[in-house]
Amino acid sequence: MSFPDQYKNLLLEYARKELHKASELKVETIGSQIREIGFLCTQCGSCCRGYHSDNRVMLLPQDILNLSKNSSLSAAEFVLPFIAAEVEDALNGISDLSGLIPYLDKDGNVHSFGWMLKRKKHGDCFFLERGDLPYKCAIYDFRPALCQTYPFYLEECELHTSECEGLGSSISYEDSLLLARLVLKRYMLELEERILVYQRYEHFEPMDTNVGFSLERFKKGHVFYIVHDSEGTHRICERM
Ligand code: SF4
Repeated sequence: MSFPDQYKNLLLEYARKELHKASELKVETIGSQIREIGFLCTQCGSCCRGYHSDNRVMLLPQDILNLSKNSSLSAAEFVLPFIAAEVEDALNGISDLSGLIPYLDKDGNVHSFGWMLKRKKHGDCFFLERGDLPYKCAIYDFRPALCQTYPFYLEECELHTSECEGLGSSISYEDSLLLARLVLKRYMLELEERILVYQRYEHFEPMDTNVGFSLERFKKGHVFYIVHDSEGTHRICERM
């Protein structure tokens, strides 16, 4: 979403403070919280499948590098600009255009703030496949940080959980520490990425909401995205 310099500086300051606070968090404390909540992956695949409430996997630059290095795929084959759920619904014609408007510039480009994994037509993750188990991740050993740490995440330096049927099961001391280390590492990398995005962000002129706008232009086939990430801004054209 477009933000002027004053707002950008506030966000930057907040992210820096958050990173400093995160650097003081103890893996052991997060590990004991995870142990108290309990977790065992049942391999149900729900978090990777389309029917799940939100199976978008936001990618860190490290995830993209890791995946490109360990697969035969180039980044362009598995990433998409990250868009908020309301933007996706608007582009798919599921909801009205109001969710889309704040991300549109005066030329009709959709602005995005990072990358996510592609999904198949029916919404399953691009890398989800059927194997010996009902569902299998084709890139399990080098899956993104979000997948490695699901259903746990840190926000404002507090541990949170997403919907998952494996919550509440017992977890060993060693596994809880391992998970805690990954959760903390992911949070710090996300904050570092956010700081760089704010530093490099180039303000865009938002669309004048008084000007009539029709989704028909997107229905004609392509969406033009401008992605703001830690490396700067990228122009991407995607077929709808
Ligand atoms: S990358 Fe693997 S673990 Fe992550 S959502 Fe896709 S299939 Fe699931």
